[in-house]
Amino acid sequence: MPLTRCTKYLRINPQVPEIHKIRLAARILARGGVVAFPTETVYGLGANALDARAVRRIFRAKGRPQDNPLIVHVANMEMVDDLVAEIPPIAGLLMERFWPGPLTLVLPKSDLVPPEVTAGLDTVGIRMPAHPVALALIKAARLPIAAPSANLSGRPSPTTGHHVLRDLHGRIDAVVDGGPASVGVESTVLDLTTPVPTILRPGGVTLEELQKILGRVELDPAVVSEAGHPRAPGMKYTHYAPQGNLFLVAGDTPKVAARINRLVKSFKAAGLRVGALLTVETAACYRPEIQPDYLEIIGSRNDLGTVAARLFAALHNCDRHRVQIILTETFPEKGLGLAIMNRLRKASAHRIIQA
Ligand code: AMP
Ligand code: MG
Repeated sequence: MPLTRCTKYLRINPQVPEIHKIRLAARILARGGVVAFPTETVYGLGANALDARAVRRIFRAKGRPQDNPLIVHVANMEMVDDLVAEIPPIAGLLMERFWPGPLTLVLPKSDLVPPEVTAGLDTVGIRMPAHPVALALIKAARLPIAAPSANLSGRPSPTTGHHVLRDLHGRIDAVVDGGPASVGVESTVLDLTTPVPTILRPGGVTLEELQKILGRVELDPAVVSEAGHPRAPGMKYTHYAPQGNLFLVAGDTPKVAARINRLVKSFKAAGLRVGALLTVETAACYRPEIQPDYLEIIGSRNDLGTVAARLFAALHNCDRHRVQIILTETFPEKGLGLAIMNRLRKASAHRIIQA
């Protein structure tokens, strides 16, 4: 199938999805097509998880490395039973507590799952998304849906239908646009095949929430640093990167504001277009001598949910404003801060400046 084709655009009611639009998208999936759809985390690029050819189309549309496995999205427990070799009791507990929701569980796979989905691993990542459109679509297709984030590989994840189109227009069969994603960062990937459950990627469900249920939870070292060989294959690639060079500025809020001010001045003096992404607290201390070319308030340090929800959109906005340098702050790696910092570290290629 050629890569360039007409991408159908379906605007849908996110709370009460119109059934004829769901059916249309489900038919495309059932025929082996690729469809982008909203979830509560980010937009996913879906295909029939049981159809190797359809799954290969996802990799082709995204330019995704073959060794990076996909998460399979389900709408009920029967689908899980088909996909996994066994469900350990602990997995049942987690599904009850966090599904539908932003938690992906890595479990031993069944023979039904083609190796294309899992990049040849004998495990499969599964989650049940908490979005009426995603659930309706999976139910209507009556298929488990493999779906990575609906962006070109390496780019910031999409949190709106327009972000999807900017990357994938003409490369996918359809996009179902249900408005902005509410969580804004991807799911937490938790490996349940290790002796102690291990977070391979932090996300919408926090380490602290998992600890409450599980007691001990390990963090893959690659989550918080550059060093170490990540066990989630996808985590080793350039990720979430906007077109401009992102720099993180760490330290006390007033010092960060002052340092960003000096950096804006010097980058602009060098003739570069500069963007600044600030929380309300940092913005309150910020006295720019020279205005950045783009400034966006990305939420409050006291409410990291707002920051997570706006983060990827803010990076997309920087691209839209063609800034070459992006300056933002760092966050404590607690709660949602762990996922936010994981994305920022990668998007910035670990460029952190101490204020
Ligand atoms: P994305 O598709 O962009 O949301 O990324 C999915 C993430 O889940 C990647 O980091 C994958 O490496 C990880 N993942 C998916 N399936 C598995 C698996 N079976 N084992 C380990 N990591 C997985
Ligand atoms: Mg992704």
